[in-house]
Amino acid sequence: MLARLRHHRGRAALVVLLGVVGTALVLVLPAVARHFTDVVIGEKRPDLVLPTALVGLAAIAARQTLLALRSLTAQALESRLVHELRVEMFDRLQRQPIRWFDRNRSGEIMSRVSTDVPNVQKLLTEALDVALPAALQFLVVLAAMFWQDWRLALVTIAPLPVIGLVTWRHSKVAEPQWRESGEATAELHALLHDSLSGIRQIKAYTGEPESLDRFADASRETRTKYMRVMRGQSLIWPGVSILAEAGIIAMVAFGSWRVLQGEMDAGILFYFLFAWGFLFEPISKINPLSQTLNRGTASAKRVSEILDRPPESHLTEGKRPTALRGEIRFERVGFSYDPESPAVADISLQAQPGETIALVGPTGAGKSTLLHLIARFYEPDSGRILLDGHPLSDLSKEWLRDHLGYVTQESFLFNATLRDNLLLARPDASDTEIRAALDAANALGFVEELPEGLDTLAGERGTRFSGGERQRLSIARALLRNPPILLLDEATSALDNRTEKLVQQALERLRADRTSFVIAHRLSTIEAADRILVLKDGHLVQSGTHAELIAQDGLYQRLHRGGFSQAPGT
Ligand code: ADP
Repeated sequence: MLARLRHHRGRAALVVLLGVVGTALVLVLPAVARHFTDVVIGEKRPDLVLPTALVGLAAIAARQTLLALRSLTAQALESRLVHELRVEMFDRLQRQPIRWFDRNRSGEIMSRVSTDVPNVQKLLTEALDVALPAALQFLVVLAAMFWQDWRLALVTIAPLPVIGLVTWRHSKVAEPQWRESGEATAELHALLHDSLSGIRQIKAYTGEPESLDRFADASRETRTKYMRVMRGQSLIWPGVSILAEAGIIAMVAFGSWRVLQGEMDAGILFYFLFAWGFLFEPISKINPLSQTLNRGTASAKRVSEILDRPPESHLTEGKRPTALRGEIRFERVGFSYDPESPAVADISLQAQPGETIALVGPTGAGKSTLLHLIARFYEPDSGRILLDGHPLSDLSKEWLRDHLGYVTQESFLFNATLRDNLLLARPDASDTEIRAALDAANALGFVEELPEGLDTLAGERGTRFSGGERQRLSIARALLRNPPILLLDEATSALDNRTEKLVQQALERLRADRTSFVIAHRLSTIEAADRILVLKDGHLVQSGTHAELIAQDGLYQRLHRGGFSQAPGT
């Protein structure tokens, strides 16, 4: 944060300057009190009552004006810093490799942006707006007290070292407790996110009571962790107050004694009584401050865990060949998500430019994994994949993905307008091009029937559209990109015959003239493929055309007899 603050040196300096001047003005009030005692009363000068009071009032007004300006400037600075932090964090999140998203739950990640970033903001607010002025005020008043009477000043601050020690010890304990509390909150968020995503399943299986139990447990855990911190917080402040208030008694007693001895004017004692308030005002802020600081530090650590993570490697660096034919070769490729069980092993295959390769096999056979490896969501553990003879590992991932169309099974749509959903594939596409892509995907008809056309919002995850419509929209998205290589995970969801035909037609147009890898569930797709690869337990067990494979006594024949998957129309 300090490094970031450097970019806004001017504003930060202004905050400090306004703080210093505003704070220095606190000294006027004790001086006014002393003046009333020693001069106005002591020398019996009623004519000075009004002018002295006016000086006091002017000082109060000037001080509050300066402090208000400081607060405004500080707020503007902080909100800018937090905005920068949030955007940088989002950028860093997006650039993490898929593997990282496999390991971290979305709800937990969201909590870092939604809870931890505001905590860091509070840390900044308090640091700039409370701690800094408080420290300044403390030092200024202390110096003035020593200037007035160093003996009395020493007595006044006698409890301070003990207060310092107590709060320091306390913050050592509190910070890890805040961290645990933050983790529990993140856990709660993760659970909430998970439950909302799965709400249809929960309802369908009447899982509400169990779901509630899980949530209540997590919420209780959050409460326990929070209370553990708060217990310490509630005890520390009375402790500090006892020490501080004992100081004022000692000060008054010692001061009165010195006045009686004739060593000091009564005015100085009044000066000290006023100044004491200003000296201990900053200390009264230690409690809420230490709370925010401890919580903020814990959150800042969680935030930097993300900011300090190196982004996905090879995103922009790497070769960017000028032409692409679309020949893909796997050479003895092996990969596992976790070391114990390989997802695919010893896969060798070759796809000529423009060929359609159908991948078939039972679930868990490793079909999606092959697509993930081509898109470089993951890197092979052994062997290599070549594109037009270039090892994929030499290419820039960005370049590679720019040349890929990836149509996933769930046909995800963002909760944005249809136009924006399609523009993801090619941000500079015109409405005419979008319409052409929709037309080729057999989607133009239903889009044009919508009252708002391309401006229709898709709803969360595209729920506004039916499965068949979503499929065609995601095909249109891929067509718009017009990629030389296509990765297609055919949807298994059941469609009525007419929609099924429309989708099939759209897919044929999409596959034409591209090297396509299709996880195929429908006989029509499989039969149309140039080559079929049959996978089982991560191994390539058969390969050939439909006619060749159906003639062999093997897995393909059995899958064929079973109808490949439950999809109708096969
Ligand atoms: P298919 O697409 O043929 O159904 P996958 O390629 O999805 O098969 O999965 C192959 C194997 O890898 C399976 O055993 C599956 O459980 C495992 N797997 C898939 N994705 C992950 C992941 N993100 N993390 C861990 N294991 C995974």
